[in-house]
Amino acid sequence: MLLSLALVLQLLDFSPVQSYSLKAFHKESSVETDNSTEQDYFSVSAIIERANKNVDQTLDESTVLFGDIAEYTGFQNADPCISRGCKWSKHKKGKVYVPYSISNQYSIREKQIIQGALYSFANTTCIRFIPRYRQQDYLHIKSESGCYSFVGRRGGEQVVSLQRFGCVYHGVVQHELLHALGFKHEQTRSDRDVHVRILYQNIIHGSTKLGMEHNFQKFQTNNLGTPYDYNSIMHYGRYAFSKNTEPTIIPIPNNNVAIGRATEMSRVDFQRVNKLYCG
Ligand SMILES: [Zn+2]
Repeated sequence: MLLSLALVLQLLDFSPVQSYSLKAFHKESSVETDNSTEQDYFSVSAIIERANKNVDQTLDESTVLFGDIAEYTGFQNADPCISRGCKWSKHKKGKVYVPYSISNQYSIREKQIIQGALYSFANTTCIRFIPRYRQQDYLHIKSESGCYSFVGRRGGEQVVSLQRFGCVYHGVVQHELLHALGFKHEQTRSDRDVHVRILYQNIIHGSTKLGMEHNFQKFQTNNLGTPYDYNSIMHYGRYAFSKNTEPTIIPIPNNNVAIGRATEMSRVDFQRVNKLYCG
């Protein structure tokens, strides 16, 4: 079953209607078994992991990838995001305008998918992604190797990479945009140990940069008074970065609850954007 799904997914990757087909197919294939690996296969978490699998984790001299979060080297101890204030600024009427440009590498259909995700914030939040005119700080959405984003506003042009044939899906775009707005992965939350257990023995490990343990590091996050959300688009799947097909994250106390299967932003994901920017 998994093999045939994989084949279909591969075909969808090259289809011009990838986002919607993927979602439709995902719904059809929602077999009601709690531990179904098929469902995990179509989650944003799994798509990003697959797309980034063969990506060199060092992008250039100054940038390193942590999962799908890009960081400048040398800043790990004092995150500039905090010291400089990495939120995007609010305008007088309460809107937060985030300028963007989209590379010409993309097809019309791919651009539509990206724009659909950009616009998805406009209905229920104060975030307005707007085409860049001359603004100094902006997102440059382009197809580099893998799917990744910096966390928060970095100042100047900042790349959001959505590799063609791998990352251009509605939910993946939303995920990377949430990073750019300042959000980290759900399972790195300060209170995560109450909600999930990390099974380090199953994570791809290594003494070199190939080790994946750092993706499960816990941070002192601002949780904005919102509940821990297994269904957040920022939550990794049960088998994320597994070396042996055994789970790396299990929910507690009920190990069978579905986690990290989101294909689009959850209600809580939108709620958090509102709490951080729109209150
Ligand atoms: Zn991410």
